Amino acid sequence: MLNEFWYKNAIIYSLDLETFMDGNGDGVGDFAGLTRRLEYLHSLGVDVIWLAPFQPTPNKDNGYDIQDYYGVDDRHGSLGDFAEFMNLANNLGIKVIIDLVINHTSDQHAWFQDARKGEDARYHDWYVWSKEKPEDWDEGVIFPGVQEATWTKDKKAKAYYFHRFYDFQPDLNIGNPKVREEINRIMGFYLSMGVAGFRVDAVPFVLETQEPGTNGNRKIRFEYLEDMRRFLQWRNGSAILLGEANIEPKEAKKYFGDKGGGLHLMFNFFVNQHLFYALATGESQPLADALEETAGIYPTAQWAHFLRNHDELDLGRLTDEQRQKVFDAFGPTKKMQLYERGIRRRLAPMLGNRARIELAYSLMFALPGTPVMRYGDEIGMGDDLSLKEREAVRTPMQWSDEENAGFSSAEAKDLVHPVINEGPYDYQMLNVERQLREEGSLLTWTKRMVRLRKECPEIGYGEWEILKTKVPSVLAMTYRYRSTLVLILHNFAGGPVVIRPKAFNDDPTPLVDLIEPLEIELDEKGGYEIRIGSYGYRWFRLRGVKPVMSTPAKAGK
Ligand code: MG
Repeated sequence: MLNEFWYKNAIIYSLDLETFMDGNGDGVGDFAGLTRRLEYLHSLGVDVIWLAPFQPTPNKDNGYDIQDYYGVDDRHGSLGDFAEFMNLANNLGIKVIIDLVINHTSDQHAWFQDARKGEDARYHDWYVWSKEKPEDWDEGVIFPGVQEATWTKDKKAKAYYFHRFYDFQPDLNIGNPKVREEINRIMGFYLSMGVAGFRVDAVPFVLETQEPGTNGNRKIRFEYLEDMRRFLQWRNGSAILLGEANIEPKEAKKYFGDKGGGLHLMFNFFVNQHLFYALATGESQPLADALEETAGIYPTAQWAHFLRNHDELDLGRLTDEQRQKVFDAFGPTKKMQLYERGIRRRLAPMLGNRARIELAYSLMFALPGTPVMRYGDEIGMGDDLSLKEREAVRTPMQWSDEENAGFSSAEAKDLVHPVINEGPYDYQMLNVERQLREEGSLLTWTKRMVRLRKECPEIGYGEWEILKTKVPSVLAMTYRYRSTLVLILHNFAGGPVVIRPKAFNDDPTPLVDLIEPLEIELDEKGGYEIRIGSYGYRWFRLRGVKPVMSTPAKAGK
């Protein structure tokens, strides 16, 4: 049933090979290590692993500076190790999607090294050049305070090249059909190795073309995205594109495509920022508005919802006043902030206590879309603000209380990033091994919520609606799919509240609590009286309607 829409009710787990598990003891995470941890991910209930870039790289931007698209960086193993990993993951029923970083290459890529030789070089037109220094050479930087320009002179080429990101990441010229053919070859290569799709990095910048020698006259060519989608679907009808595009809500439909011919999934950065605003202030209305503003996408398309990722928490789409409130609550010092727009902390230290972490996670699983978890957040890992920029949230996974958190047998000085070994997030107290054995641990709770999300296909497939509750701290949502109805409530305030939704249909059927063994009957006034605790969350399904089943229960007799 609906198998081609598997991405609508999948649990995605994102990780970076480098910091997940080191199998060969050199201090750097690798495929051998990740392969050994597949059972853990399987038992957590993960359906899809999103793997950050693992290809050969000078590694000046966490691997997002690729030197060769068709290989595996030596530090992570070999292409054979990747194939081994793919085989075992697929055997466990876990799909794998990988990063597709095609806005730019590393400046060490052979294409760029050739392109620098001059206009006659074979790969010259694979990049974006200007003979003159563009007037707006320092406009449009992505990393203010760190990145100085978007056009930099290459001495060898005697010309300026365009780089939306760092100067060691020259932009590929997507307007060149040969570049687009090569992107198809890259996708085809990994599809043939069994990946289920791609997380497409920096989509708006991939699609943008511009007048030579200027940052102006930019145009986003959505037809390139449709080309990519068509190629993908020809090769594998169930493969997906998950796009990274931090855009205005009104732009979303173009990325998904009018008829669903664009991205299958796209991260909802807009809702993410308003979600943190709700967590910071206790006000649910801006989040409800953000959900409404991003609604109405093509039925086969879907949003991906997340709490934290490998970057800073970007708050650039909030008003100045809203952003300041989130900074005050979750990133009050300059050291916690980054790029004038975000917070470089992990979820648990920002939220500070278990009740709010549960609230945030429950909300992510309940938002209409596909949830994307971040490695380590399932055990409430902390951050290391002594590391530079975004590396604060990229410390090694804390597996056990053994040396180096069980991540690696290397000497501590050889680790890719130091483990957190002091304070409330010290690996000796906070680790997977311990939480697996503790009934009340965050990990045990998270596993249960993953299972609950899977038991509610209404969230991914259904129609959702926001209920008015007259309680400003509460977000109340219903999800209808076929003949079933799920009601999920979140209270962003630090105090209990009561709400009274009216009956949902003509039958006086009770609401069945999906977390506790309770039911709430319709009262004589024709409504349900529901209490929600401080930072609480409640999940219900309306009793008395047919369960979601595609085949009769008697099948097989
Ligand atoms: Mg290693």
